[in-house]
Amino acid sequence: RHVKMQTACRKDIDRFNSQFLTVFESLIPADEERVKQKQLLTVLEKLVAKEWPDARLYLYGSCANSFGFSKSDLDVCLAIELGNNEKSEVVLKLADILQSDNLQNVQALTRARVPVVKLMDPVTGISCDICVNNMLAVVNTKLLYDYARIDVRLRQLAFIVKHWAKSRGVNETYQGTLSSYAYVLMCIHFLQQRRPAILPCLQAMNITYFRNVDNVECAYFDQVEKLGNFGSRNGESIAHLVWAFFHYWAYCHDYATDVVSVRTGSTLSKRTKDWTRRVGNDRHLICIEDPFEVSHDLGRVVDKYSIRVLREEFERAAEIMQYDPNPCVTLFHPY
Ligand code: ATP
Ligand code: MG
Repeated sequence: RHVKMQTACRKDIDRFNSQFLTVFESLIPADEERVKQKQLLTVLEKLVAKEWPDARLYLYGSCANSFGFSKSDLDVCLAIELGNNEKSEVVLKLADILQSDNLQNVQALTRARVPVVKLMDPVTGISCDICVNNMLAVVNTKLLYDYARIDVRLRQLAFIVKHWAKSRGVNETYQGTLSSYAYVLMCIHFLQQRRPAILPCLQAMNITYFRNVDNVECAYFDQVEKLGNFGSRNGESIAHLVWAFFHYWAYCHDYATDVVSVRTGSTLSKRTKDWTRRVGNDRHLICIEDPFEVSHDLGRVVDKYSIRVLREEFERAAEIMQYDPNPCVTLFHPY
C-alpha cells in the first residue's frame, strides 16, 4: 500500500481547492476580534504601568503569530526587571492589581511550570494568560509571523492542519500529542522542502534582526517584503499541499533517524543532536527542533502510546486525501 501511495499522487485533488479555501476562510478571526484584543491589551497596559512604569506587555502565540483561529485566547508576556523577586511573586502581585479592576476570574497559577495569571474580560469576553519574561516565545512568535508573510499557502496549510489536529484530538500536549506551535513548524519545514521551495530558510540568510534572549542568540532575515513572490515558481495548490503534507508524515518521514529543522531548512539526523536515546522523559519519537532553543525537541511530549495515535492519524488523513470523495468533510470528523 505504501509503495502505491508513494508513486500515485492524487491527480484530481485540485478540484477540492475551493473547499479547502472555504474551510480556511471560515477559521480566520474577524477584524472586530482584533479590535477587541487591542482594547483589552490597552486596559492591561494601563494597569501594569501604574505599578511598574518600566515594564512592557507583548503579545505572543496565536493572537500574534497570524495562525490564530477566531475566538482564541490572548497570550500576553509581561517583560519586567525582576530584581530580587521570583516570577511567582510578580504573578501574585499582578493578579492583585488586575483583581481590583473589574476583570473576572483572575487566577494566579504560581506553581505551574510557567507561572501565569489567567483572567477573563467581561467587556470583550476574551480570556487571557499573562506570563512573565517569556521573551523567547515573543521572538519565536515573530519568526512564525514573518514566515507567514512570505507565501499565503503557509497560513492556509497551517490553519487546515491545526483544524484537523484539534478536530481529531491530537493537539493536546498533556496527552502526549503536539502543540500548535509544533504543527506550524512542521508546515514551515514542509514548505521549505518543496521543489521549487515555497519558503526560504530565514535563519540561513543575512541577518537583519537580532536578539539575545536568555543567552540564546535569535537571528534571522526579517525583511521578508524584499523577497518578492518567493514561492511563485511553485504553483502547487493548497489541496495538493495538504495531500502532500499528510503523505509525508504518514509514509515518508523517517521517524527512526530524522529531525525536522526549520533553523537549517533541512532534515538533520538524530545522531548529530544526540537525540538517539531516552533521557529522562524525553524519548524523541518524533523530532522537531525549536528554531532558537536548539536543544529543545518539541516532540518530547510524545510517548510510546501517543506516537501510535499520531501516526495512525497521519495515515488516516493521508488515506482520506488520497481516496475519499469528500475529504474536506471527512478529514475534520470529530474522533
Ligand atoms: P492555539 O491556537 O492552539 O492557541 P498557539 O499559537 O497559541 O495556538 P501554543 O502551542 O499554545 O500555540 O503556543 C503559544 C506560544 O507559546 C507559541 O506561539 C510559542 O511562541 C510558544 N510556545 C509554545 N510551546 C512552546 C515550546 N514547547 N517551546 C517554545 N515556545 C513554545
Ligand atoms: Mg494559545
